[in-house]
Amino acid sequence: MTWDDGTAYLEEMAPGVFAYVQPDGGWMVNNCGVITDAAGDAVVVDTTSTERRNRAFLAEVAGVSARDPRIAVNTHAHPDHTYGNGFLPPATTIIGHHLCRAGVLRAGLAATHELPADYGDLVVRPPDVTIDSDLTLHLADFPVELKVMGPAHSTNDVGVWLPEQRVMFAGDLAFSGGHPIFMEGSMLGFRAATRRLRDLAPEVLLPGHGPVCRGDDVARVLDELEAYVEWISGVATSSYDAGLSPLEAAQKALSDSPYRDLPESERVVCNLHRAYAELTDHVPTGPLNIPSLWPEMVALNGGRPIETHA
Ligand SMILES: [Zn+2]
Repeated sequence: MTWDDGTAYLEEMAPGVFAYVQPDGGWMVNNCGVITDAAGDAVVVDTTSTERRNRAFLAEVAGVSARDPRIAVNTHAHPDHTYGNGFLPPATTIIGHHLCRAGVLRAGLAATHELPADYGDLVVRPPDVTIDSDLTLHLADFPVELKVMGPAHSTNDVGVWLPEQRVMFAGDLAFSGGHPIFMEGSMLGFRAATRRLRDLAPEVLLPGHGPVCRGDDVARVLDELEAYVEWISGVATSSYDAGLSPLEAAQKALSDSPYRDLPESERVVCNLHRAYAELTDHVPTGPLNIPSLWPEMVALNGGRPIETHA
């Protein structure tokens, strides 16, 4: 199966190292992964948003590993990447940043109301083991490095890096084919994370949303992400000087933007709020003092509700 089929599929990125790719990659439709070693053990990277999607993912995991996953890593707290934690076997240890655990517990199931879908019977389960600096998992025949790379997309981003295979599970530090979003993290941190990803020189990179990137496509996607941050930063600087609100700035910028036709363009207003905060208050990662960005995203979306295909 491929991205264009529209159904989720397992794609081998290196021997025994798999992406679980979910089209269309929009809101609440994320990618996961599974890493298997010579002893038959498995490490899962992220879960997904609904019961149906998680059961399908875990069935694929069972098909490539000898027993239940020993470890699951959450790349960050967002619900599309963590709602399936509750479907993991109880003995599977979940590892994430300490702010990931706090974020999962704080958010609960609120997103099921913001983005309605058939979520099934979700049970909130945060990481059991938390980190605030890099950690290496030593599997039977190779290491897996958990790299703390936030604040960037969120406050608690962790990249899962396989140095021997040169495979990177980037979580939402990378998007392919849709707008990135760094409202809950840091614009400047997102740019720094992009540079760190480039410095590691992955041969294969799995974005949090979008198809697997290989070879020259990795650098191309990272270049595009960096260019996107430059674009947001430029829009923010000129729009703030012109006295525009983030929503006014987003509406004006998107009308003749190179990103106008990229899916999830409503995220521009979110990114501009973060950019304004960084360009004016120099508080790179504090929570934004906005009750809800959904009405502004709907306005930017021409009044149409933001939908998920989860
Ligand atoms: Zn996310």
